[in-house]
Amino acid sequence: MRHLIIGNSAAGTAAAEAIRANQPHAEITILTRDATFYSRCQLHLVAGGVRPAAKTSFVPEDWAQRHGVEVRLGWDVVAIDPLRKEVSCRNGDSLPYDRLLLATGAGSLTPPIEGVRGSGVFGLRNLEDAQGILQRVGKSRHVVIIGAGLVGCELAETLAAGGHPSVSMVEMAPHPLPLQLEMTIGARLRDVMSDHGMAMFCRDSVAAVERDRAGQPRAVVLKSGRALPADLVVCAAGVRANTDLFAGLGTIGRRGIVVDAGGRTSVPDIFAAGDVTESCDSTMGRVMPSAIWPAARRQGRVAGLNMSGGSTTLEAHTGLKTSAVLCGTPLVSLGPVFEPDPAWRKELCEHTDSRNRLCSKVCYTDSNGVLKAAILWGDISQAGLYAAAIIQQLPLGDLAFGSVPDYLLRAV
Ligand SMILES: Cc1cc2nc3c(=O)[nH]c(=O)nc-3n(C[C@H](O)[C@H](O)[C@H](O)COP(=O)(O)OP(=O)(O)OC[C@H]3O[C@@H](n4cnc5c(N)ncnc54)[C@H](O)[C@@H]3O)c2cc1C
Repeated sequence: MRHLIIGNSAAGTAAAEAIRANQPHAEITILTRDATFYSRCQLHLVAGGVRPAAKTSFVPEDWAQRHGVEVRLGWDVVAIDPLRKEVSCRNGDSLPYDRLLLATGAGSLTPPIEGVRGSGVFGLRNLEDAQGILQRVGKSRHVVIIGAGLVGCELAETLAAGGHPSVSMVEMAPHPLPLQLEMTIGARLRDVMSDHGMAMFCRDSVAAVERDRAGQPRAVVLKSGRALPADLVVCAAGVRANTDLFAGLGTIGRRGIVVDAGGRTSVPDIFAAGDVTESCDSTMGRVMPSAIWPAARRQGRVAGLNMSGGSTTLEAHTGLKTSAVLCGTPLVSLGPVFEPDPAWRKELCEHTDSRNRLCSKVCYTDSNGVLKAAILWGDISQAGLYAAAIIQQLPLGDLAFGSVPDYLLRAV
């Protein structure tokens, strides 16, 4: 059996490992346009000069050998022929497959803003993006980051902590991390980030990137009319699934390739996993954004098992799970806090810990007291319990106030 995987990141490697576990003698080939193995989750550190690119691999050096996988780095796949069951590459080669996995991830979304395309404006999705930012950031005097989602916030914090004199963020929502936080905690994060030297421009958006005579960015003009000086601009305003290879072949939804719970696409013997797919959050039963590393690993594993003769489905999960440490504060967001059902009850509960730091929990419960979404700020020690309660649709009980119900302990 010849397994071909496009992509050597979270989903692609998890699939290869699962295939090898099922089929010791199968042929597994990974084709990837990346030049190395690296974790995208660390790109903000590379861009900020905190971590060398060579230290971002998420697999051991002998990973390919250990799993018996042929990895062709720098191979760009340009077309799939599902009738001949082969893929064509930019270098002119074609490779046959019995089972194919698309683990092609997502790319930065470039918003339709005047002047946004060209020198000095970067996305942050690939190592090349991070290295491009790194090359300029040392000489730059004013960085403007468009979008205060997780990627934008992590980059802003890295640059500010590294001593950059002027880091500004522009965000349409009233606060940073609009997908992960609600108003109270969001406003707190906004204030904390301002205290740490980042200028936050929320409830505003970018109208244009102004350029000087040499074509380099000079300022970012906001819809409110304010102009922010900028010689380096980073677009962190979302991602778009890399579905191009699948266009015209099978079903693509609004957010990515449509797959069943086993990772199968609508085309026989073609599977897809990770950020390239639409993902259905099992707790909500709805297609939700969930472009995170652990979700891609989980989907890759399931697809790999099914490609190699297994019959498995994604277990109940909430794809909406974000954990981060920003400006020294750990936070975890679980479930659809960005669009809670209006019928849910929202409760905020706060305490100060032994080091006198404010810790908060925001819990959303339905009319039966079942936990639907939560935000933990400062103290994330019970994140596992909260996640289990959401996934298994269990009532919150008195957890928010410190006592853990038995059924929750059993659920973890
Ligand atoms: C700066 C940053 C910080 C992040 N931080 C976090 C975090 O803290 N926590 C978290 O959970 N997630 C984080 N993420 C998201 C996480 O990195 C992604 O969810 C994860 O990488 C998705 O994995 P994937 O395998 O689906 O796709 P990707 O990682 O996007 O990989 C896609 C692969 O496909 C290959 N490819 C694409 N098209 C082709 C083609 N035509 N031919 C050949 N190869 C192709 C690429 O070379 C690449 O190997 C972050 C992402 C970024 C960019």
